[in-house]
Amino acid sequence: MERIYNFSAGPAMLPVEVLKEAAEEMLNYKNTGMSVMEMSHRSKDYEMILDEAEENLRKLMNIPNNYKVLFLQGGGSQQFAMIPMNLMKNKEADYILTGVWAKKACAEAKLYGKVNVIASSEDKNFNYIPEVNHLQINEKADYVYICENNTIYGTKYWNVPDTKGKILVADQSSCFLSEPVDVSKYGLIFAGAQKNVGPAGVVIVIIREDLITDEVYPATPTMLRYKIHSDNKSLYNTPPAYGIYICGKVFKWLLKNGGLTERAKINQEKAKILYDYLDQSQLFKPTVNKESRSLMNITFVTVKEELNDKFIKEAKTQGLVNLKGHRLVGGMRASLYNAMPLEGVKALVVFMKKFEEENQ
Ligand SMILES: *Cc1c(COP(=O)(O)O)cnc(C)c1O
Repeated sequence: MERIYNFSAGPAMLPVEVLKEAAEEMLNYKNTGMSVMEMSHRSKDYEMILDEAEENLRKLMNIPNNYKVLFLQGGGSQQFAMIPMNLMKNKEADYILTGVWAKKACAEAKLYGKVNVIASSEDKNFNYIPEVNHLQINEKADYVYICENNTIYGTKYWNVPDTKGKILVADQSSCFLSEPVDVSKYGLIFAGAQKNVGPAGVVIVIIREDLITDEVYPATPTMLRYKIHSDNKSLYNTPPAYGIYICGKVFKWLLKNGGLTERAKINQEKAKILYDYLDQSQLFKPTVNKESRSLMNITFVTVKEELNDKFIKEAKTQGLVNLKGHRLVGGMRASLYNAMPLEGVKALVVFMKKFEEENQ
């Protein structure tokens, strides 16, 4: 069976080595005579899978000891509620709007307190990251919230905002593990696994210990309290056990292949191939200005609207799939997450050149 290049924004490609290993272990995990899917989450074997996953993630990201790592459910979207419910002690927070995901997080936070929009790029359909070095941070704000990589629009913060000492909270769903990160700059980082890490159903939260308290929004459900998950080491209830197992394999795969410094180099190289071509093409145009470009999600259009659909259809026949852009942006989007091999991007650009020649 042949694998194709899947440019989906998520769920997205996973490393072949990881999938193969999981396939080999599917019926009989390490002589247990059962699949990880069939295993008690309280068993010794599973405990080892979970512990090892956390340990390897800590190693990969160099996570300081005063941060907890939680493997939760509910996707990125549930974090939009958990964050204000758990962190809004003054019932006020500052949000920066750089796209749909940030807007959704902002709307959710409004259910729990006062929300200030301190910067936005909505005026240009979110095709850039606003200036964040001289923000008016509100005195009473409990935290400043950003969506660090904007999956739909193809933008990325290349430096984090100056929060004037306030806690920085970041949705890193679509850039998680794509490059080294200084965790100590953040109070909380979260990422839904299905973009750059593993299967859907797992969301990873990295949270500074002092932010985990019992002092939460009144009547916050037990399941939505960071403290309950932290106290129980992500085993308060049945965790997304199989998903965590796959995430753990991806962490190992990254460590084995040079960690995040090496990953960042490869990701830069991959993105450069596509951006360099887009910048000189007469037919294709990138939609994001140079300073704000994401390495993970690359958005572009053709200069003739009617060619977009034709391009997407023809690319599919060449084994280059899921290149359709999000309906809010239109055009095309190529997601180049960690598991997309260099050859995949090269194949895409070869096809784009050919398409350009044929459709002058
Ligand atoms: C996909 C995505 C989400 C939403 O994730 P779900 O797991 O579907 O809730 C949130 N933020 C970003 C940046 C995303 O890319």
